[in-house]
Amino acid sequence: MRTINHWIGGGPSPRAVERTADVFNPATGEVTAKVAMATPADVDAAVDAAAAALPAWREASLAKRARVMFAYRELLERRKVELAALLTAEHGKVAADALGEVNRGLEVVEFACGLPQLLKGEFSENVSSDVDSYSIRQPVGVVAGITPFNFPAMVPMWMYPLALACGNTFVLKPSERDPSAANFCAELLAEAGLPPGVFNVVHGDKVAVDRILTHPEVGAVSFVGSTPIAKYIYDTGTAHGKRVQALGGAKNHMVVLPDADMELAADAVIGAAYGSAGERCMAISVMVAVGDAADRLIPLLKERIAKLKVGPGDDPSNEMGPLVTRAHLDKVRGYVDTGVAEGAELVVDGRDPKIPGHERGFFLRPCLFDRVTPSMTIYADEIFGPVLSIVRVATYDAALELVHANQYANGVAIFTNDGGAARKFQHEVRVGMVGINVPIPVPMAYYSFGGWKASLFGDTHVHGKEGVHFYTRGKVVTARWPDPRFRGVDLGFPQNR
Ligand code: NAD
Repeated sequence: MRTINHWIGGGPSPRAVERTADVFNPATGEVTAKVAMATPADVDAAVDAAAAALPAWREASLAKRARVMFAYRELLERRKVELAALLTAEHGKVAADALGEVNRGLEVVEFACGLPQLLKGEFSENVSSDVDSYSIRQPVGVVAGITPFNFPAMVPMWMYPLALACGNTFVLKPSERDPSAANFCAELLAEAGLPPGVFNVVHGDKVAVDRILTHPEVGAVSFVGSTPIAKYIYDTGTAHGKRVQALGGAKNHMVVLPDADMELAADAVIGAAYGSAGERCMAISVMVAVGDAADRLIPLLKERIAKLKVGPGDDPSNEMGPLVTRAHLDKVRGYVDTGVAEGAELVVDGRDPKIPGHERGFFLRPCLFDRVTPSMTIYADEIFGPVLSIVRVATYDAALELVHANQYANGVAIFTNDGGAARKFQHEVRVGMVGINVPIPVPMAYYSFGGWKASLFGDTHVHGKEGVHFYTRGKVVTARWPDPRFRGVDLGFPQNR
């Protein structure tokens, strides 16, 4: 059986593999590969390679670094269908969705191609007599990314294109559940001309992560994953003196006001709740129906759910694939059972999926709950599966209060035809990313992505200008050319005259 190895110093790691984990095809339930699980010594080897490559890479001209990104962009564009197929094979998402993920990642690579423009500093002439002042931003050094299973190509691309273009070297620890995309991208980066050691991949679990978090040579850590781990990463990484941005879980609400176009809202919530089997951090998992909106929406939702095609992701006619692992399927099914036991109304029950020829795949069909209340487990917890809960409220104010009472604040959406109501919502809502008649408001690469509250630990969002900021340190220079007029000892604090 194939073993997916670490990528260190420009090629597969030559070190012996001590421990492996199974990689599954979620559509069939079969083990398709083994992935190497890094020991602390493997992480040390990757960090050493990154540290050795740093001096030359940080001195490479901006033009050279941008050109590598341009070349990488071209290779990715040419080979994106292959990369998308790897995502389908290990994550399970359907082909069109996988390609969408790669395309959104590509946009960050395109943004990184413009880095020379983004790294420009500021210059002030004559801040004092014959004194000029200017600011520059320099790479942090060796930086690391730790990423989740649900976007194995795109989420790492939120990080490394900018980190590399800024002159850092990188160690990526992708999810052990779908590891192949990381190696594919490492090979393309090498082909694009990235010198050996500038980008490294270590596969593994907590053992690898803990070494990254405590390694003295690692200057910054970007993390995306669930909230308890995000908090742990933030606490441990910062305690070891690292700069950390740790993006966590979510429970995204879509508020539907009674004046909304209900057909439009129904189309939108179906895509946002069940796309990628609900395994998106920006998935809508709660619909907040204001006034009579629920009664009008439920028939439209049932009609649409009945037509959804669920099956293996490599069949282009399917719209929703399986969940990532058997353990995750069992967890999500368990939540549906709990929802029924706690008294929510299961309007559509997807627990008996019957996908002919794929009986051992990790499938669950869409589930829809009505009359969910905030005290129920299915409302409180992030389920991360194809389960949509409807909470009924009487007013806009009650909807806003509900959103604010939730521990998460990643994304939120409002559906309405009332511009004034939408504007009031965008102004008042305490959530990082807001959609107005847009259910999944994932910011473009040139804006930054990030939530508030338990959805993000740290103060910097990913990609966009904040990404450039995260991967660089500021420096300000104050300069005067020697001038005999300014001779003489002065013990006073420097000040303008
Ligand atoms: P996860 O937290 O289980 O794993 C994320 C990463 O952390 C993986 O690389 C994993 O190997 C590592 N990890 C797991 N357990 C660890 C531990 N005990 N100690 C150290 N490292 C550990 O998340 P997941 O299941 O892979 O991904 C789904 C989660 O990610 C969801 O909660 C989802 O909302 C979240 N997510 C958030 C965003 C966002 O932008 N906020 C984006 C995508 C996914």
